[in-house]
Amino acid sequence: MSIAQSHVVIVVGAGPAGMAVAGSMAKAGHQVIILNRDIKFGGLAEYGIFPAKLKLRGGLKKQYWDLLEQPNVHYFGNVSVGNGKDLTVEDVREMGAAAVVFTIGAQGTKAIGVEGDSAQGVYHAKDVVYHFNRLPGFGDRPFEMGNHVAVIGAGDVMVDIAHWLTRYKKVERVSAIVRRGPVERKYNPKEIRAVCANMDIDGIKKEFDRIKDRMAAVGQKAEEVFKGLTDEFTKCEQKVSDTKMGFKFLASPKRILVDANNRVRGLEMEDNRLDPKGEDTVAVGLKQYYEFPCDSVVFAVGDKVDETVGLPYKGGLFVTNPNKSGNDPDDSLFQAYDEKAGKVIEGVFLAGWARKASEGLVGVAKRDGDWCAEVVERYLASKNSSAQVTDVLNRLNTVLKGRKSHPVDVKGLRALERAEKAHQEISDCIGEFKYASNQEMVSLIERGKA
Ligand SMILES: Cc1cc2nc3c(=O)[nH]c(=O)nc-3n(C[C@H](O)[C@H](O)[C@H](O)COP(=O)(O)OP(=O)(O)OC[C@H]3O[C@@H](n4cnc5c(N)ncnc54)[C@H](O)[C@@H]3O)c2cc1C
Repeated sequence: MSIAQSHVVIVVGAGPAGMAVAGSMAKAGHQVIILNRDIKFGGLAEYGIFPAKLKLRGGLKKQYWDLLEQPNVHYFGNVSVGNGKDLTVEDVREMGAAAVVFTIGAQGTKAIGVEGDSAQGVYHAKDVVYHFNRLPGFGDRPFEMGNHVAVIGAGDVMVDIAHWLTRYKKVERVSAIVRRGPVERKYNPKEIRAVCANMDIDGIKKEFDRIKDRMAAVGQKAEEVFKGLTDEFTKCEQKVSDTKMGFKFLASPKRILVDANNRVRGLEMEDNRLDPKGEDTVAVGLKQYYEFPCDSVVFAVGDKVDETVGLPYKGGLFVTNPNKSGNDPDDSLFQAYDEKAGKVIEGVFLAGWARKASEGLVGVAKRDGDWCAEVVERYLASKNSSAQVTDVLNRLNTVLKGRKSHPVDVKGLRALERAEKAHQEISDCIGEFKYASNQEMVSLIERGKA
């Protein structure tokens, strides 16, 4: 990418999408300011991806450190953008940057919408994942799981939760609750290796027997599907607990059943059948209900964006421009859009999970960031003048100081990294020491600077 003029670009969010945008813009010679809610960069690469995936996490970390060391990249960790946060969306827009890109991920949680969902022992998967990855605000809170955990969902996040419950919490039983059948499972066969040593094969066989007629009704052969599913249980990670993992298929939770202390004691489940829908199937409730005993419930059904941030929002997503540009990639997909005013929000862009909540792996978020950078570059090419980065940085620092915020720069991050590495104590599961509160991290960094 070659540019005629260097501009100042603010990227809000330092996950894989934000780092991709920042990397492309910095490489093209622009001045990039990154604002990130978490002290540490990486987003879900730091606080979502399973801790044991050391190679993936280590590779990304190295790449992100290299980017942050660039002289035209300016990092502000511990700075949240949103109503009532360190900065509002308007504050950021008024800093004088030529473009602002929001790559803040999908931080909202989908309403569970099941009676009893506020009971003790009901969790959103993202919160559990943040907990075992020790994200401040989650890492130091207890997550009581009990003996038998029902995880709602059939994707990779369900498997990650099961992995943690099996290898580290060593609960007695994990049941994946799946609205449709085994054919419609969504997890990657490679991911199931983390838990397949703990599969309750007899229990799974019985479950197939229970649903085989309903599978046959849509042309699915239970025996073949059972073989396909269990054939994937190869190269299983070594078994370290007696946890039994199984599935409940064609099952929709309708109500959380609680005891006298409002603690989960089970789920009221509705049995489903499958109906064909084109090449695919849909689940249809049979109005036949049964009780499914369990001690806690984790909903692993995807996330939505955080509607409180102050960007136009509709139906779980931030609103993007409905009017196609015809360019490749199409500008409209990345442009924030004000439906009331019927126009794009000048200079404001979206990428990654902030644009398409819960969509794809790191590679997809990175590609989205790269595409967004191309669109931003096209936009900047039409702009003549831009503020000086020193002016934007001064303005930003003044506002943050006035609000008593505690931004953390790359020097601070390095000090934090040294302090964490020096710790002997290793948190179980994540294989490294991590401070679990912002307060601890900020005071350590500020002591280091004094
Ligand atoms: C449980 C789980 C496991 C996963 N495992 C894998 C895996 O094994 N392999 C893989 O390739 N992918 C995995 N993924 C997918 C991958 O994590 C995502 O594709 C990717 O992280 C999305 O990137 P993003 O930058 O859009 O959002 P995020 O990674 O969510 O980053 C968002 C960033 O924005 C910041 N932010 C949020 N709100 C604000 C705000 N208001 N103001 C300022 N900053 C803000 C956050 O601090 C964060 O740094 C997993 C996802 C989950 C949920």
